[in-house]
Amino acid sequence: MRGDAAGLPVPDLSGLAAREGMDPVITRHRHEVKRRTLTVLSATRITPNMLRIVFGGEDLADFTSLSPDDHVKLIVPGAGDQPEMRDYTPRAFDAAARRLTIDFALHEAGAATQWALAAKPGDRLQIGGPRGSAVVTAAFDWWLLIGDETALPALGRRIEELPAGTRVTSLGLVTAAEEEQRFDTAAELTALWLHRPAAAVADPAPVIAALERLQLPEGRGFIWIAAEAGVARAARDHFLTRRNHPRGWLKAAGYWVKGVADGHDKMLD
Ligand SMILES: Cc1cc2nc3c(=O)[nH]c(=O)nc-3n(C[C@H](O)[C@H](O)[C@H](O)COP(=O)(O)OP(=O)(O)OC[C@H]3O[C@@H](n4cnc5c(N)ncnc54)[C@H](O)[C@@H]3O)c2cc1C
Repeated sequence: MRGDAAGLPVPDLSGLAAREGMDPVITRHRHEVKRRTLTVLSATRITPNMLRIVFGGEDLADFTSLSPDDHVKLIVPGAGDQPEMRDYTPRAFDAAARRLTIDFALHEAGAATQWALAAKPGDRLQIGGPRGSAVVTAAFDWWLLIGDETALPALGRRIEELPAGTRVTSLGLVTAAEEEQRFDTAAELTALWLHRPAAAVADPAPVIAALERLQLPEGRGFIWIAAEAGVARAARDHFLTRRNHPRGWLKAAGYWVKGVADGHDKMLD
């Protein structure tokens, strides 16, 4: 991690807040980029299509993840000689126990999904990062978190880490009730779920229809969106153009792109 003389992270205050002329909303931290070799400790289905893998290893001694929407690069075998890299969220990290948890949303095909499906205790995996963390530092009256299966790890971690009493509404996009998850939190959580068929996970229409019905609370609110890129973009546009939500109080990312291996659009806003 880049640091000042006291070894503290140096925030980069450029970006969203400056455009809004208000206190910084997001503070960016850079971390030393490092490759780590981890060992699989366990692999458990937490829902029929969500596989939780807990990793351990001494390489985690100096692992840092400051924001729930951080990501690490998983380095997995590819079809040819070259390995493939895929982005995944540190769902949980226990520094004392040197344990890192990653949740895999299972889908039809892909190098990372295949690796995860075959993983068993004792298997090894190399990871890189996180390269940086974008920490929401401003205070908000409420939060709205919208995420599909790939974003539930970040969404769940955010809910769990919000301080006691914070008003947060989540909208989880899943295929069925059995894919819904429970998040333990001290925040005041309203958890909403939208079910859409597997064939429609990249279709913005059902999500936008749900957003049209959603009433936003009064006051300053931060909206976080992550899903298939077209869905995330449509949801972002809904809040910016239909609701006039301030651009600097919203963060949207495409976590995958339909039909594209390793496709993403991390900085829609
Ligand atoms: C910042 C960030 C954090 C992320 N965190 C997580 C996480 O914690 N857990 C997680 O599961 N994913 C997460 N993702 C999404 C994950 O990186 C992608 O889904 C990735 O494409 C999966 O790699 P793969 O090798 O399985 O499939 P790929 O080889 O990349 O893709 C193969 C095919 O599958 C399609 N595809 C990819 N993902 C899905 C999906 N979810 N549903 C249906 N089709 C899909 C692609 O469009 C492509 O056609 C994150 C992405 C980003 C950018």
